[in-house]
Amino acid sequence: MLRVENLRVKVGGREILKGVNLEVGEGEVVALLGPNGSGKSTLLHAIMGRPGYEVVEGRIVFNGVDITGMRPDERAKLGLGMLMQIPPALKGVRLGDLLKKISSFYGAEIDYLRKLAESLRITGLLDRELHRGFSGGEMKRAELLLLAAQSPKLALLDEPDSGVDLESLPVLGRAINEIVYAYDSKAKEKRSAIIVTHAGKILSYIERVNRAYIMLDGKVSCFGNPRDLIEDIEKYGFEGCLRCLKVI
Ligand code: ADP
Ligand code: MG
Repeated sequence: MLRVENLRVKVGGREILKGVNLEVGEGEVVALLGPNGSGKSTLLHAIMGRPGYEVVEGRIVFNGVDITGMRPDERAKLGLGMLMQIPPALKGVRLGDLLKKISSFYGAEIDYLRKLAESLRITGLLDRELHRGFSGGEMKRAELLLLAAQSPKLALLDEPDSGVDLESLPVLGRAINEIVYAYDSKAKEKRSAIIVTHAGKILSYIERVNRAYIMLDGKVSCFGNPRDLIEDIEKYGFEGCLRCLKVI
């Protein structure tokens, strides 16, 4: 479904991604772990095609199509969607109105979204301007709801668990499962996701995580079973993964 090949990306004139290789198959959910500043968000933005993220080498292939030079909206039409780590606040744009617009464009059912808003406990936010004065946890929930309206084939989730209290993690986990698995029945193909998480907290609430990658200093340094890798990180820290035999 997604293949990132030897991707080098510059942001603000500085090389941030230094040759990233990563693959996500159809129906696969992969976790992307790594310390702050290792390039996780940059990788997701580059996959989504955010302006200012200059690809200087390598390519991104999505469902057999080279999307490296495409605009973000073109990528979204192909089925890519992203939950940003720090989404921008939008003056004059209400969450509920944007939700309707996105769902009418992508064909998600409004009843389904209303139920999801209830289970995310954010129906009270629908009349509010997007992210203006939202708490960290409210932002993540609102972003998940908007992403569900887009029903992406590949969801790029940037730290859905950061700034979220422990009690809310199961709620967020359920919503992610909805987006990636439950709503699958409508699509002819299986959904996929990349979940970026600093501490891996959210992963225990996800139905199935096929693989985890670790990013260090702009490169994917190794991959493996998520549980094993998180255990190793807890024992030896991120640098410990350098000792891993599966260096790629
Ligand atoms: P992570 O998500 O893994 O914490 P990021 O991808 O956000 O890391 O950042 C990787 C590195 O790129 C950091 O050193 C960060 O300061 C730098 N960086 C990110 N965005 C910019 C930018 N717009 N201009 C310059 N440097 C940037
Ligand atoms: Mg980040």
